[in-house]
Parts: sequence; C-alpha cells; structure tokens
Amino acid sequence: QVSHALKSLARKEEWKHRLQQSEELHDILLKAANRYVAGEKRSDGLAIARKLQAKGYGISLENIGENTKLLAQCREAKMEFDQLIEDVGAIAPGQTVSFDLSHIGLSYQFDTAYGHLIELAEKANEHEVTLMISMEESTKTDQILAVYRQAAELYSNIGITLQAHLFRTPDDLRKLVQLPGKIRIVKGAYQEPSHLAMERSDYLNNRYLELVDHLVSTNHPVSVATHDQKLLEEMERRQFLQSTDVEIEMLYGIQPSQLKLFKEKGYQTRVYLTYGHEWFLYLCHRLAEYPENIYTALIDIINP
Ligand code: FAD
Repeated sequence: QVSHALKSLARKEEWKHRLQQSEELHDILLKAANRYVAGEKRSDGLAIARKLQAKGYGISLENIGENTKLLAQCREAKMEFDQLIEDVGAIAPGQTVSFDLSHIGLSYQFDTAYGHLIELAEKANEHEVTLMISMEESTKTDQILAVYRQAAELYSNIGITLQAHLFRTPDDLRKLVQLPGKIRIVKGAYQEPSHLAMERSDYLNNRYLELVDHLVSTNHPVSVATHDQKLLEEMERRQFLQSTDVEIEMLYGIQPSQLKLFKEKGYQTRVYLTYGHEWFLYLCHRLAEYPENIYTALIDIINP
C-alpha cells in the first residue's frame, strides 16, 4: 500500500506545481533525492558519470521522464538525448544511454517513438554508445516490444529491458534472442495485477535465474540488473557472472559497496545514473520499491 501510494503521488501534477511554487520544499526534497539522482542538469549527470568511469564502472545515463503527451515535448526530450549521446560518447566508448519510450513519443504516437528511436540509434552509432530501452507498465509492453523489434532489426546498438515478474517474459525472451541487442533483466518495478505478474519470492528469483541462464547459454549480451545479494551470489556460483557477455548493473545510490565488491572481483559492472527535473518521480519510485528508504530520506534531509 505504501508503494502504491508513493507511485501515484509521484505522478500527481499537484506535486510538480508545489515544487515549482516552494523553493524551500524543492530544496528539502532534493536533499533526499540526491542519494539517487545526480542533479537537475545534464552536466550534473556527466560530472558523476566521469568519476564513476574513472573508477572502472560502465555508465548508463538517463534523463528522467515518462508519458510525454505533447509532440513538442517529445521532440524536446529527444533533442536532450541527442546531446546526451554526444556527451556520454565523449567520456569513453561503450557507455549506455537509457530511456523510457514513453518519454520520447510512445504516449503521443507509435510512429513518433519509432522515428525518434531510429534517429537516436543513428547518433549513438556515430558515438559508440548503446541505447537501452526501459520497460514500463504492462499496458505498454506490447507497444514497447513492437517499437524495439522494428528498430533492433536495423540497429544492433539498441537493447531492451525485460521484467522477470511478468508471466509473459519467457515467451518474449525466446523471440528477442533472435535480435542482437543486449537484454537487461530486472525483477520489475511496477505494481501489476496478479494474473499478469508474480510477487517477490523464491519463485521469482528462480524465474530470474532461468532467464539469465537462457541468455548466457546462447551467448547473448545481458545485463543482470538487480541489487539482490543472494541472487547475485547464485549467479556467481553458476558461473553466469564470469561470462564476458554478462554485466552487473545497479542503480546509483543503492548498495554501492556491493557493486564495488563485484568490480574488485573482476566482473563487468555498470552504474545506472539519472538526472533531470523529474527527480521527484524517480525519488518516489526508489522509496516505493523499498519503503525502508523513507527513513534514509528523512536522515538525508536532516543531515545531508
Ligand atoms: P528486490 O528483491 O526488490 O530487492 C533485493 C534487495 O536489494 C532488497 O532486500 C534490498 O536490500 C535491496 N534493494 C532493492 N531495491 C532497493 C532500493 N530502492 N533501495 C535500497 N535497497 C534496495 N524496473 C522496471 O520495471 N523497468 C525497468 O526498465 C527497470 N530498469 C532498471 C534498470 C536497472 C539498472 C536496475 C538496477 C533496476 C531497474 N528496474 C526497472 C527496477 C527493478 O525492476 C527493481 O524494481 C529494482 O531493481 C529492485 O529489485 P531488485 O532486483 O534489486 O530486488
């Protein structure tokens, strides 16, 4: 219930308005967000990305946003990603830019999202950057996969995220391994109806392992995007992490010491880092998926 409340709170326009109106409220909540978000500007994201890259981590950078409804805003978002691709490419080759398709056009029109994705893929190719498409609510899964499939047939530098908690995912995976793009496996962040998705459980963890096993055994590039220590240890025991096709990817600010340990063991590691004006939405997502973070947020506000 707490998770649900936080997720719907994040989307309320009223909150955006309040944050714009009150500098004090904006600054207080930003202190809590700073643990997970680089800042409001692209330069904030790039500054932290450079430091992480110098320490040996791969980077996934995202300008936070979703459900853009107006064409002009979809174009604006796409132009921001154009610039981000250039800047991320300048840090080092092999970095990643991540985004929601609904940020660049899917909530407006299928063709807008597809057209923007193709333009971004072209630019990313020039700058040796990989694009990773995030996975959103199950109501959008078919459309996201349709846009991805069409684009990934033309560009091998586009990857896709799949949610292990959805019952449909093993079928989706079987079809998607035909395409060259990297597949990021996550447990799933959205509250879904029980006939579509399973809860956090051993059953879900086993499903996660089966999906990764399938990818590793077909030598497909995969990002294991989880903070679950037990699950990561099991992947290490099964020799998944040792594969050169596998990288471990975690969200900035969540259990960084754990990712550091994996990096020190010699595994490929990547930090998913975000920036942007929609940081409140992102903060609510992080609190919702792990409500204990509410206490951490309070401490960050009192003692930043
Ligand atoms: P859980 O079982 O949820 O957590 C395991 C343990 O990890 C917890 O016990 C806790 O110790 C720690 N932990 C987990 N979350 C937090 C947190 N917020 N704060 C502090 N500790 C925490 N989801 C999507 O639906 N679509 C996407 O496109 C998507 N992209 C992602 C990309 C990356 C790189 C990552 C890492 C996650 C992404 N997610 C996405 C979120 C994902 O679905 C999960 O909601 C999130 O990773 C938490 O699940 P978990 O695998 O860490 O396991």
